[in-house]
This record gives sequence, structure tokens and C-alpha cells, in this order.
Amino acid sequence: MIKITTPPVATRDVRAHPAADVRRFSCLSAPASLLLPPSLLPLSFPGLNMRKLLAILVISCWATSAHAQKADLVVTNARIVTLDPASTIAQALAVREGRIVAVGGNDAMDGLIGPATRRVDAGGRTIIPGLIDSHIHAVRAGLTYATEVNWIGAKTIPEAMERLRQAAKARPASWIIVAGGWSELQFAEKRRPTLTEVMSAVPDNPAYIQLFYSAVLMTPKAQQTLGISSDHLPAGITAERAAAGEATGWFNGSIVSISALFDRLPRPTFDDNVAGTRQFFTELNRLGITGIVDPGGFSIYTSHYAALQKLWREKSLSVRVAYSLFAQNVGAEFEEYKNLTPFLPMGFGDDMLRFNGIGERITGAMYNNNAPDAAAKDKFLEIVRWAAKQGLTVTIHWQEDKSVHQLLDLYEEVNKETPIAPLRWSIAHLDNTSPETLARMKALGIGWTMQDAMYLGGDRIVAQAGEAARTMPPIVTALRAGVHVGAGTDAHRVASYNPFVALQWMLDGKTVGGRSTRGPDETPSREDALRLYTVGSAWFCFDETRRGTLETGKLADFAILDRDFMSVPVEQIGATASVLTVVGGKAVYAADAFAGTK
Ligand SMILES: [Zn+2]
Repeated sequence: MIKITTPPVATRDVRAHPAADVRRFSCLSAPASLLLPPSLLPLSFPGLNMRKLLAILVISCWATSAHAQKADLVVTNARIVTLDPASTIAQALAVREGRIVAVGGNDAMDGLIGPATRRVDAGGRTIIPGLIDSHIHAVRAGLTYATEVNWIGAKTIPEAMERLRQAAKARPASWIIVAGGWSELQFAEKRRPTLTEVMSAVPDNPAYIQLFYSAVLMTPKAQQTLGISSDHLPAGITAERAAAGEATGWFNGSIVSISALFDRLPRPTFDDNVAGTRQFFTELNRLGITGIVDPGGFSIYTSHYAALQKLWREKSLSVRVAYSLFAQNVGAEFEEYKNLTPFLPMGFGDDMLRFNGIGERITGAMYNNNAPDAAAKDKFLEIVRWAAKQGLTVTIHWQEDKSVHQLLDLYEEVNKETPIAPLRWSIAHLDNTSPETLARMKALGIGWTMQDAMYLGGDRIVAQAGEAARTMPPIVTALRAGVHVGAGTDAHRVASYNPFVALQWMLDGKTVGGRSTRGPDETPSREDALRLYTVGSAWFCFDETRRGTLETGKLADFAILDRDFMSVPVEQIGATASVLTVVGGKAVYAADAFAGTK
């Protein structure tokens, strides 16, 4: 399927289409000054007559034009997975003013290299389009990234405990918070840490350790500070007890009660929010991510977007963000949307930060509810009908195929009045979606954001779903059905944000514990998996013609990888990192070997 293309591609790209717009700007406007009335022309300078003046103007105009046509950045000696329609593998690319101006062979870049051009020799490494996570709670993750500990990638309990110890050393007496993104199956011990282990790692700090949205370990110091005890539990929270009856330090609850519990934790300061957002986005850049589609989330209110906005104002965002509005006021969701959206028209923003509609929770009553009553459906319909009229994109969290008809019935009703296909509505999750559902989604033009929930949670899901897990999620069936699919993670509380872990899982169907779940029938090719994580995801923020592939005219978002994604053994894909990540032509992350580029 992959076609190797050498120099001719660049001929098509650049030589055949000289930078006409630049020439028009710099040359045609300069001679216009010659149309000035003769009386205003400086004819009397000693040694300068009109003929000479004209010659100087024309030469300087050519010089400006030639200079303007040089690239700002040229990368050569690469294996560029362009993901263009012909699956071209190119050798070099050139960037000017944030966009790709040429893709092709090394030789084709010669004419584009001027004295000011930065040059990068990729040393034969693979370049991919910047990855885009189509469903990641990254804005929220950024708020606390500087003040939380994460266990992503920790392979043993002692390694996890060491991360707690290091955090306590860095910030003595502060809260130690692990906000999810891990599973006991990632540890060689195949169990959760105990209270004793946590206490011996961080004896002097209050510690709060969350496992998905189902359980939390709180040390006595943490319980005391939050005013919680076994006989004084928050609503929806139960204390776990060992066989002998003593409390284990673990507490159980639902997504709602655990989110409320999390909200009791001390909030990081605004400076922490800013530092955390910056660090988290750099961490995403390290993993080749250049864009995200963010669905808000529990415990993130409009005021929490201030850190993101500050970085945007300062032009220091290193990831392109398309964000939606997640309803926070259960029972008053419609009012919330009507209050906030007059200042947030669909698509408002720029290439770095853009408003992308509403969701993933539209109403509390239709969230994780497989049997909504008539009132819940009426309320929901009222909102989505309004959203369609406003031209808003709607993304929704839905888990179960068995109940998704409740949702699709309503969408079909809206679609009769206002066609929703142009608005690119989407459903997130729905791992067990059926061909019938996919056909209905296709007919409505609804896209599917698919995440690697099965990677951390697959063992539990196999226990419930049995054989059905072999087709979860049905990636190939969805592509065959012609549904728009975006890849992603749903990080960071329920999943790792690492896109290469997700890509490996897309290709091997194995859980963190090594169990094979999804079968070969639902395993995409490497190239298709990469397409879902780039141009596939870009569709969900209306950007698939602007980024997600490496072609002339596209935004210059790409990553040079430390290994060849297309050929390394599948089990090595999860450990991939970027050595140089570029967003809009600017290096936002550079490993040591490329440090001079940043
Ligand atoms: Zn969700």
C-alpha cells in the first residue's frame, strides 16, 4: 500500500506553483510607487536618474521576492509518512510561515534554502503528522499536572511508591494526589497498593489515590483533613473493609460521588494551573501530540480555562486546542448553554485555540443513563434542537450500544428540521457499537471518537462481555461503514494520555496486563491507525483539510520519532517518543540530539 516517492513530488509541490502570493505582495506593490506623479519622484538625487531608480527598485523587488520564497525550516534525510491520498513516503519537507511549502526529495529543497533557513537533518528517522487526540480531558489535566503524581507507565508498586516519595521530597507536607490514569494490572503485583505501603512511602503527607472513578485510597491524614471517617462518609461513598472488619483505607463510589470527593481537595493556585498546563502540553509534545479535542469534564468550570487562555494570549500554547462546553449545572443545563454561548459562537478562536461546541455531557439526566424517561428525553431534545439551530457541534458521552437508540431517535428527529451532518456531531466511547448503530450514525453524518479504554479496563470488560470483547471496539467495521473515526485516550483520570500506547493497543488489541481482547478482524493497518490519530481526529474540529497530513499548504505540525512506527515490532510502539515536535513550523519539543533546533 505504501508507495515510495522521491524528488518528483517536490516538482509538483513547489516548482510548478511558485509562491505567487508572496510575489504579488512584494513586487506588484513596489512598482506601484512608480505611478506617483513625476513631480513627486526624487529625480534630483545626485547621480540617480529615473532609469537607475527603476533598476534599483526592480532588483530589490526581486531580492525580496527571492528571499520571501526561501523556507523558514527545511527537514531533510527523513522517512516522511505524509498520509497523503497516495500514501507517499517522502524524504524532505520545507516550511514557511507555519505551513508546509514543499514535500519531496532532499534535492527538491535546494532552491528553498536561504541564509536564514533553519535546517534539520533527520538522520533517516521517521516523521509523522502531529498526532491529534480527539477526546482528551487535557485542559483539566493541565490544571493539576504540576501538583499531582502520575503512575502512567509505572510497572511495579515500588516504582509507583517511589514516585510518591519523590513528590513528597519536592513538596514537603503538601498533598500527594494521584488522580487516576493507572490500573492495578499494570503492576507486576497485579493488585492495588495498600494503605501500609502508601503510608510508609509518604508518612508525613496527606495522600489521595484515585483508581478510575470507582475507588479512592485516603491516608488517615487525608481523611482527617477532609473531615471524613468511616461513620462520616460523603454521599455515595462507602468504606472498604478487610475480612476481619478493619478499614483498608480504600473507599468506593460512582463517577459522581468520586468527582464530588475530588472537588474537596485543595485547589492548586492559578500559577500552579499555568505551570501544570505548560508542563502537560510539553509532555504531550514529547509524545508527538500537536492537537487535541477537549470535551471539558467534571470539576472544570469556565473559570478554570484562565490558565489555558493566558498561555494562548502569550502565544505560548504548544498544542492546538479545540474545546467544548460540558454542562456543569445539572437541571439548568439549557440556561447554562444559553448564557455562555452568545460570546462563544461555534468555531470562535484561531488556529491554536478554538471553541468547538457543546458536550460531552449535555444533560445530567442523559449521562450514563440507559433508560432515560420521557422528561429527560424532552429536555435533551430541546437542547440539541436549539444547538443545531445555533450551528453548534455536539459531542456526547455514550457507553452502551443497547441503549444508544434512545439518543439516535432524538438526533433523527432533530435532523428532520435541521440537517446535522454539516455540524459534525459525535459520539464518544460506545466501545460495543453495533453495525446497525454505525449505519444510523453514518446516515446522520455523526462521527465516532474511539478511545483505548480497553487497554486499562479490558480485563474487567472481558469478564462482563465475554466473547463480545473480541470486536470491541469495532474499528475496522466502523471504517468500512464509512463513519468518521477519531482516535484518542479519554485521559488522564481513566486512561494514560500516551498516544503510542493507544496506537500499540489499536494494533495488538492487548490490555495493559497482556491479555488479547480484540481480534484480527477489528485490527486496522498501521497506516490506518495513524490516519485515525491524525487526519481522522482533525475531522472532529473541522480541520482535516488543514492538518493531519503532511502536504503542501497544510499547517506544519509534525513529529520526528525515535523509531520507525511503520516497521518496528508492534510491542515496541508503545515506548515511542518524539525527538522533535513542530507545531506551526515552530519546534515545541526537542530531545537532546535536537536541542539546538528549539
Ligand atoms: Zn466521556
